[in-house]
Amino acid sequence: MSKWSNYINPTVRQIPPSGIRRFFDLAAEMEGVISLGVGEPDFVTPWHIREACIYSLHRGSTTYTSNHGLLELREEIANYLGSQGVHYNPKKEILVTVGVSEALDLALRTLVCPGDEVIIPTPCYVSYLPCTELAGGVPVTVATSMEDQFRLTADKLEAVITPKSKVLLLCFPNNPTGAIMDRQNLLNIAEVVRKHDLLVISDEIYDRLTYTGHHTCFASLPGMQERTIVLNGFSKAYAMTGWRLGYAAANEEFIAAMTKIHQYTMLCAPITAQVSALEALRHGKSAMQDMVTQYNRRRRLVVHGFKEIGLPCFEPGGAFYAFPYIGHTGLTAAEFAESLLLEEKVAVIPGDVFGPGGEGCVRCSYASSLEDLTEALQRMGRFLKRRGLHNSK
Ligand code: PMP
Repeated sequence: MSKWSNYINPTVRQIPPSGIRRFFDLAAEMEGVISLGVGEPDFVTPWHIREACIYSLHRGSTTYTSNHGLLELREEIANYLGSQGVHYNPKKEILVTVGVSEALDLALRTLVCPGDEVIIPTPCYVSYLPCTELAGGVPVTVATSMEDQFRLTADKLEAVITPKSKVLLLCFPNNPTGAIMDRQNLLNIAEVVRKHDLLVISDEIYDRLTYTGHHTCFASLPGMQERTIVLNGFSKAYAMTGWRLGYAAANEEFIAAMTKIHQYTMLCAPITAQVSALEALRHGKSAMQDMVTQYNRRRRLVVHGFKEIGLPCFEPGGAFYAFPYIGHTGLTAAEFAESLLLEEKVAVIPGDVFGPGGEGCVRCSYASSLEDLTEALQRMGRFLKRRGLHNSK
């Protein structure tokens, strides 16, 4: 460490680098690795969406847009949310952002005052804790468990509430577990939210990727719209991670406050991505459904495959992750992931990098081809067999 580290804001200095990155770096140095590590669709953005982008460039759409984003896009977003049972005014209650990543940062910086507690069910997306700290908040984790199908229960939520609790940060369908919450589960949570006057940030980026039930938008529950900031985007459903486009929907005051930060830091989301997102919402449903069908086929393959080779695996109902249990191997999740990578060239992510509740599990993304997934399962089976743990009949 050079003397310059002393000049860095201590809050930034003490934030650890993402635990996922380390495995990417290791895997990048090796050949023949099958990566189940990345949280990203393996599909290319559907052609008609790319075409809309190219055409917009032809037309010369290369300018800034309104800070809020193109009104047409906000109207289409409002239509989509309307189809989920929640109605927003596109002029005042929707903000187009640079990915859900920016929307999350804006939501936290808008709601959190120094010392406020943000309740985060874990395992969770790796950004939640650092972004909470950067916003001056105190992350309070609530570990979910395989026994509860990695759902948040009202009892567990009640147990961590203090006078400083301000925000509940939800993410269902969940990264990294693939857990979903049904309407009744969410109603139970909404009850606690109302009782303790909490605000909710609901990251619903995987809302289209559900396989065993329908997604319920948290804001559509009685009384929840006014106290919820819904975050969503185009990265996962439309295979548009590189376009960097998302949005937030909330009450007028919250959106106006978020827009204040956004207008000074980001100004607006890129116009090319906005035009393309508009095309995705208008005409992208069937391409998206094809991808969902393929994810579901892969999901069934890996969940079944893990059981076959002796890894107990909770059945994920959404997103594109499986979260098998590896605790019985006697290895920690980090040891398991590292040995599997070095011995069999399969990259998975140790569950503990996603916070409490993830120990003893590894995250495997099934956004990969059926061939790669089949090969990865074979390699994992061989890895377990060497340790006398394969289920082989
Ligand atoms: N939230 C969750 C739960 C995610 O998994 C991701 C991406 N892995 C993001 C937010 C960030 O999405 P975006 O590409 O829209 O910034």
